[in-house]
Amino acid sequence: MKDCLFCKIAKKEIKSMIVKETNLSLAFLDIKPLTPGHTLVIPKRHRNSFSDLKNDEVLDFYKVIKNVMNTLRKKLKVESFTLGVNDGKHAGQTISHLHFHIIPRYPEDKGGSIHSIVNFPPENLEEIYDKIKK
Ligand code: AMP
Ligand code: ZN
Repeated sequence: MKDCLFCKIAKKEIKSMIVKETNLSLAFLDIKPLTPGHTLVIPKRHRNSFSDLKNDEVLDFYKVIKNVMNTLRKKLKVESFTLGVNDGKHAGQTISHLHFHIIPRYPEDKGGSIHSIVNFPPENLEEIYDKIKK
């Protein structure tokens, strides 16, 4: 997609520090890492959301994520990770090309768990479940 930063990174029109590459996916260091080793994984084709990925892209994407985690475990001696996607503007997505964050976690990093990212009044669990399953 024209004017997309991560499409340009995927096409090597903009430099990045590549950690792993396949035909469908690219992993590179985040330019403003939250912790040492913070890596982004993107599909090479422009996709806005994780739910837009084709099945072959999903498989490749997850293989790359797993591979990068194992590399970081080994090379940086990392034990723990926070993994995830800010998918959509209310979730804080700032670049519209899907990117999966692999964030190594360290004993001294003062961060929280995934439970600390939202604070929303609880809804009735049964009602929500009915909506999803209907
Ligand atoms: P998000 O808030 O989930 O949209 O994350 C966007 C991420 O992209 C941030 O962590 C940025 O530091 C990162 N980022 C922005 N520009 C670049 C770039 N040129 N190379 C690597 N990472 C980038
Ligand atoms: Zn793009």
